[in-house]
Amino acid sequence: MLPAGHAAQPPAAQPPAAQPPAAPTRNDITKTYAGRTAKYWGVEAPGVLTRLPAAAAGVALTIDFCGGPSGNSVDLALLTLLRQQHLPATLFLNSRWIAANQALAKELAGEPLFELANHGTSHAPLSVSGKGAYGIAGTKSPGEVFDEIMTNDARLSELTGQRAGFFRPGTAHLDEVSAEIVRALGLVPVGFSINGDGGATFPAATVTQEISRARAGDIVIVHGNHPSGGTTPGLVRALAALRDRGEKLVPLPHT
Ligand SMILES: [Zn+2]
Repeated sequence: MLPAGHAAQPPAAQPPAAQPPAAPTRNDITKTYAGRTAKYWGVEAPGVLTRLPAAAAGVALTIDFCGGPSGNSVDLALLTLLRQQHLPATLFLNSRWIAANQALAKELAGEPLFELANHGTSHAPLSVSGKGAYGIAGTKSPGEVFDEIMTNDARLSELTGQRAGFFRPGTAHLDEVSAEIVRALGLVPVGFSINGDGGATFPAATVTQEISRARAGDIVIVHGNHPSGGTTPGLVRALAALRDRGEKLVPLPHT
């Protein structure tokens, strides 16, 4: 018998049911990564997915929509090409591009052919110490790395109803500590093995030449926000060449 009075007490709290672990908070990230120094700077930091796993059945096409004053356009011909030929692609959307193209972003979120991924909030290279690329200033601390990832993470979650699985920083540059933070926040940092359009600067013939050499396992990067560039005319011919060789496009794998 319990002594009088104990019977009225509420039962001991049960352990909560198993749930996916919550992403670390900004404070968690700031504390965990304070004082960590990065050695690597570039587009192939340790931990970044630059190729598909060895058993990949095809080539992954990734398309960046960078946003910003000269980057808020839409290459509708590129989207039409993919839709007409039923070609899957991972679309890396930046917050600024989403803000400028809200109706289209919502439409893309509802298309099974496309997976929406995170291309950052302000399109900053991802650095714990302020390193930049192409004259674009990078983030300066683990806290800023968190903000660059998670502000856009919230936008994408609103659009699709779930968190994105992949992250590529603006300019694709990052250090290895930032790559670790991306993974700690539940995302896979994605690079590329074939630079398909040179940041939307290549003429069509160069786009064709670069993408035509893709083999199963390659990750191709192009841009979907420069409709007057060589990306889509070059891609049309490259995709035909890949098809003739029996090469397929496949989505980025979730592991
Ligand atoms: Zn970009």
